[in-house]
Amino acid sequence: FASKLPQVGTTIFTVMSKLAADVGAINLSQGFPDFQAEPALFEAVDRAMREGHNQYPPMAGLPALRQAIAAKVQALYGRAYDPDSEITVTAGGTQSLFTAIAAFVRPGDEVIVFEPVYDSYVPAIETVGGKAVAVPLTFPEFSYDWAAVKQAISAKTRMIIVNSPHNPTGSLMGPADLAELSALVDGTDIVVLSDEVYEHITFDGVRHESLARHDALAARTLIVSSFGKTYHITGWKIAYCYGPAALMAEFRKVHQFNVFTVHGPSQYGIAEYMQEPRRHLGLADFYAQKRDFFRAQLEGSRFELLPCRGTYFQLARYDKISDLPEAQFAEWLTREAGVAAIPVSAFYANGRNDGVVRFCFAKKEETLAAAGERLRRL
Ligand code: PMP
Ligand code: GLN
Repeated sequence: FASKLPQVGTTIFTVMSKLAADVGAINLSQGFPDFQAEPALFEAVDRAMREGHNQYPPMAGLPALRQAIAAKVQALYGRAYDPDSEITVTAGGTQSLFTAIAAFVRPGDEVIVFEPVYDSYVPAIETVGGKAVAVPLTFPEFSYDWAAVKQAISAKTRMIIVNSPHNPTGSLMGPADLAELSALVDGTDIVVLSDEVYEHITFDGVRHESLARHDALAARTLIVSSFGKTYHITGWKIAYCYGPAALMAEFRKVHQFNVFTVHGPSQYGIAEYMQEPRRHLGLADFYAQKRDFFRAQLEGSRFELLPCRGTYFQLARYDKISDLPEAQFAEWLTREAGVAAIPVSAFYANGRNDGVVRFCFAKKEETLAAAGERLRRL
């Protein structure tokens, strides 16, 4: 049969994690922690199951969880979102993103994305018949060229997808970026989709510039965050999307017939666990230590580290080690050096090659030290 998505292969995260497992490499490719979440979280979920919370939660998510999300967003970004009509709990950030795209993008619509681009956006756009229009971030600063965005906007532009803190580059949008974006979409009916799954992981005292902070942008933006990143539970696949009621009503039209609702006991457990703000507020320092530890491991190696201002990913140039293209270098590194990484070319449609790979440092120090020892030998 004819493929609907002939240009889509298997996601790089599956490819690299499988290769790492097959050859027994230290896996710094796919982004996930190799350490445990706190027992209090498991106990709260366990209690919910034993107390009988094992049937369908409400379609939009458990009210207590939506209230906890609203309280957190208000405390952090100063905007009130109505838990009843403006927040929906989803089966992971990936489902939030897909649902938002499916709810707004019609066949023939254009969606502006920024390259390097997280790998799920473009296939989701194409699945619903939209067309991704990629605007490159500058290299190697990975900052926004707003003049180029202005050029890319057309009468067909339905949505702009931004991601800060940015995967894979660790760059951040600043207040000036929000002002530029806001000026460009002012007077249009463009919807903004803001992927903020790393919202709590910014470094060196720089705050996360959520689009929720910005009046004009917040009025046209759906924001996505993920408990997977915040509470070290990527395998639970639980996240949320929030935005103004008119946008959220459209979002829920798709959500209700896509997953309908999300694993209930986890929602009870997380709602309880969220009551302690230090659990998300402490994340930046926690990961800053890991970033610094990993960067120190690579001192004296022939990798050249790019700045990392947020997320749990570190980019490294390897041109002093090899002139292989990124995909081949990542495979070689996994097989021969025993450390798996992600080729950044996987985040570009045209397979561009800057000689840069991405390492995930959401790992125990012993894992990072063992990887560092191998990487310093190259
Ligand atoms: N967006 C970005 C930028 C991500 O890095 C990830 C996960 N790594 C997601 C979305 C998806 O989040 P989830 O795992 O909750 O589906
Ligand atoms: N977002 C994670 C990463 O960037 C991977 C998520 C996935 O495997 N789909 O590594």
